Amino acid sequence: MKKIYAFVPLALAAVALMGCSGLLRPAVDLSAPGLAYRQEEVRTPGLSLTFFGTSTVLLSDGGNAIMTDGFFSRPSWLPLLLTRFESNEEEIGFALRQAKVRKVDAILVAHAHHDHAMDSGLVAQKTGATVYGSASTLNIARGQNTPESQLHLLRAGQPLVAGQFKVTAYETPHSPEPINVGFIDHPLHVPAKLGDYKLGENYSFLVEHRLGNVLIVPSANYKPNAFDGVHAPVVVLGIGVLGKQSEAFTERYWDEVVRKTGARLVLPVHWDDFARSLREPLVPLPRFADNMAVTLERLQALAKRDGVAIRFLPALREVSLPVLDDPKADERH
Ligand SMILES: [Zn+2]
Repeated sequence: MKKIYAFVPLALAAVALMGCSGLLRPAVDLSAPGLAYRQEEVRTPGLSLTFFGTSTVLLSDGGNAIMTDGFFSRPSWLPLLLTRFESNEEEIGFALRQAKVRKVDAILVAHAHHDHAMDSGLVAQKTGATVYGSASTLNIARGQNTPESQLHLLRAGQPLVAGQFKVTAYETPHSPEPINVGFIDHPLHVPAKLGDYKLGENYSFLVEHRLGNVLIVPSANYKPNAFDGVHAPVVVLGIGVLGKQSEAFTERYWDEVVRKTGARLVLPVHWDDFARSLREPLVPLPRFADNMAVTLERLQALAKRDGVAIRFLPALREVSLPVLDDPKADERH
């Protein structure tokens, strides 16, 4: 009997190893036809969009530019979980240079967790932008010595205007069971630890422009009826940890954010492993954090049901969004 027990730890270790190597990241091919964003599918180009991983996107009409989050440092898992960390100016500079970002009017920050807010103050200083965020988010930017003239407390329902862009923030819930709830009530000095980046309020953003509206929902959750009356042909859809939620939750989220707004094009964000440098290709979050294969299967079924296209954006490369308001202007659907 003793001999058999001696093999138990070995067997467990072998199973764990096999599990780690085979199932570390879900096998999804986002470059597949029908999934990858293809510029040649866009017949009538409108706004320009650049995706930087997580829920950092830049929207531009050639004259003005607005960005969400502005997160580029992407500290790796070890410092993230075990030590204190701070913004990485080289990584920020790299991303801004690669995407040829110069002047930005506004940085709209979803919430004060590190993977949204940790770089916003520095990025504002480099691009001349104003940071729009919760009190917690602004305290992160203050810790980076961002001038008060570049900080603006975000209030749901009070639109901000930058050239022809009009942006309205909606307070929506963070994805279920968030870490580090609470508020940051003083300037956050760095290096700081993960637990210091307290959530604060969470926001989604409706971007209105004559070239077409875009609804940006960085965190995968919904407030029932929050977007009633909102029309957005393009939705930038946060799908982080959606693979851990129930199928019913995913369907309700889709219905509230995509179906009700009349969206025809969904651009998923916050699906990538945010602990990897932007110098590397984006890959899905590891299995212990999410299951993107499950998310994708569910979303594709909903997209098919509603006649919506789901397209995954390239990183650090500007693409043109289609003008979709006039059904004749773009005949992909
Ligand atoms: Zn978060």
